[in-house]
Amino acid sequence: MTETLENLLHESRRFVPPPQLASAANVTAGAYDEAAADRLAFWDRQARRLDWAQEWTRTLDWSDAPFARWFVGGRLNVAHNCVDRHVAAGLGDRVALFWEGEPGDTRVITYAELGVMVRQAANALTDLGVGSTDRVAIYLPMIPEAVVAMLACARIGATHSVVFGGFSAEALSGRIIDAGAKVVITADGGYRRGRPSGLKSIVDEALTRCPVVEHTLVVRRTGQDVGWTAGRDLWWHDTVATASDLHEAQPFDAEHPLFILYTSGTTAHPKGILHTTGGYLTQAAYTHHAVFDLKPGTDVFWCTADVGWVTGHSYIAYGPLANGATQVMYEGTPDTPHQGRFWELIEKYRVTILYTAPTAIRTFAKWGDDIPAQFDLTSLRLLGSVGEPINPEAWMWYREQIGGDRCPVVDTWWQTETGGIMISPLPGVTRCKPGSAMRPLPGITADVVDDAGASVPAGGGGFLVLREPWPGMLRTIWGDDQRFRDTYWSRFGTGTSAPGSGARAANGGGTALAEHGWVYFAGDGAKRDEDGDLWLLGRVDDVMLVSGHNISTTEVESALVSHPAVAEAAVVGATDPITGQAIVAFTIPLGDVDTAGEAGEKLLAELRRHVADTLGPIAKPRQILLVGELPKTRSGKIMRRLLRDVAEHRSLGDVTTLQDSTVMDLIATKMDEPH
Ligand code: ATP
Ligand code: MG
Repeated sequence: MTETLENLLHESRRFVPPPQLASAANVTAGAYDEAAADRLAFWDRQARRLDWAQEWTRTLDWSDAPFARWFVGGRLNVAHNCVDRHVAAGLGDRVALFWEGEPGDTRVITYAELGVMVRQAANALTDLGVGSTDRVAIYLPMIPEAVVAMLACARIGATHSVVFGGFSAEALSGRIIDAGAKVVITADGGYRRGRPSGLKSIVDEALTRCPVVEHTLVVRRTGQDVGWTAGRDLWWHDTVATASDLHEAQPFDAEHPLFILYTSGTTAHPKGILHTTGGYLTQAAYTHHAVFDLKPGTDVFWCTADVGWVTGHSYIAYGPLANGATQVMYEGTPDTPHQGRFWELIEKYRVTILYTAPTAIRTFAKWGDDIPAQFDLTSLRLLGSVGEPINPEAWMWYREQIGGDRCPVVDTWWQTETGGIMISPLPGVTRCKPGSAMRPLPGITADVVDDAGASVPAGGGGFLVLREPWPGMLRTIWGDDQRFRDTYWSRFGTGTSAPGSGARAANGGGTALAEHGWVYFAGDGAKRDEDGDLWLLGRVDDVMLVSGHNISTTEVESALVSHPAVAEAAVVGATDPITGQAIVAFTIPLGDVDTAGEAGEKLLAELRRHVADTLGPIAKPRQILLVGELPKTRSGKIMRRLLRDVAEHRSLGDVTTLQDSTVMDLIATKMDEPH
């Protein structure tokens, strides 16, 4: 992958931190040196942000690599750290959640009230026989009870597995069975796109295949009729809301399993990613503090992710609450009842920090600048992006149209597996480049390597790896240690040999040779520019090989999005008899662009030329289709795998994790039209 396109590296725009933010920043440039000087001592200090019932005796035990143990011997309770200790510190009246339902109903929940709810739920679960060796599945809409359920499990040491409220009965039962969950916490339904959608009915169907489930706990959200299995099903309001709110939290071992989360399924069979207690919470709390510069008591933080995605775990439930943040939580879709809903909520709650996904940002851009312009967004001071590579033009739009050209944009790279943000600007330090996630955070050792595992020089591209273990790393794939080794640890440095000679780690200026042979392969491609900053290129499975050249889908997509007529684009490599793979692009034009007849033909020719001009003739798409929507997962990621199926005229693979499965039919029809 070293022979790559040059384009992204020529971005010359730079954005320095606003002086006010920089002078009061939670984390300053010294943190990089501090962490580079002694990485374990650095993490040791970060772990002290939390309340521990018992000190650890060793920061990291890596003797059984790649199975890590962090903060060995330490004991703590996650729910105590996220709630009780704030109340004990006199902050019980601080708002934890400003919750807004899609229909416009609201709830304001303070830390003291959250504490009551969590303790009641902990007691109710205990009464149902749930203990620290059990798993609980959570299948809820974006309502406060989702956070309460997670914290209640954490409080009693039960391992939770949150499943997206949009997943099918089949996807749900697969996850329940794999995790061996004994209880399922759900709701009658939730509101999406202005209508109540059913959840309990899906649980009922899923449970016909899951005999191990003893109980369901059902929150009444919509009031719709639900099926009921006596003895198995219990209402939350009968069980939890009537339970005692006295509950003594027991500390658990730092390595006690906190949760299993199945990856979104952009690729095939989902993996149950296991996270544990002390290291995960340390990582979530530190990264939230560092990347979002959160000032508890002043800031209003809003992460728009669903709790069914890892972003909702680390940056709604655990990181912000561990830091005593005040947050907005929203149940519904961004266009219900109107396309200005997000901006309306920012205005209403005076949100200061917004964290959302590139797909959402591109959609907002498509809807038009005049929509956010109708709202007062001056409370915002920091913007974050996560989930996919953000194209430079989408980054610029976000900064200018939402951030008033004053808020820094932090593009944060991480994965379900990493537990927290790994690569991101520090908002008070970094001179940001649009489209670049910049540097690994203090304490993280990321690198870009070639096929042989050797670091690529500045200007080169290759595979993104992490060279040193970090506290929030996944501990294994639930029930499948071998798959854990194979997937993440066997591509480079099998643990038997040191990485290629001269390997330099991009740890923010310092250089270090990993003294062990274990290298975590993230599955993503990246480039390192002349300044040493990192540019994420998407998954390596998505890299196209066209006439012997590696071309990343991200680069072609960014070139298309940089054309003024384009809102969003997805690119795949389809098998081609001449070039090996040929580039096929699916492009959403901006709302007001004329695509009918001859105008459409002209636009297509112009777009192909535009890509060739931007990236070079080798990157010119063989075919561009204008489409109305792209297939996305519920976490907002484009499913290129399905587009590849269409481009190669194959029948579609698994579509169960799609947000809207009808999108694929429309695209497939379009593909078959003569062109
Ligand atoms: P699966 O592994 O089942 O296919 P997934 O990888 O989509 O699912 P997540 O763990 O939620 O599930 O997503 C992590 C991936 O998202 C990263 O590996 C990367 O490809 C992409 N990603 C996340 N944030 C960024 C970012 N800021 N820039 C580029 N890519 C990102
Ligand atoms: Mg993944």
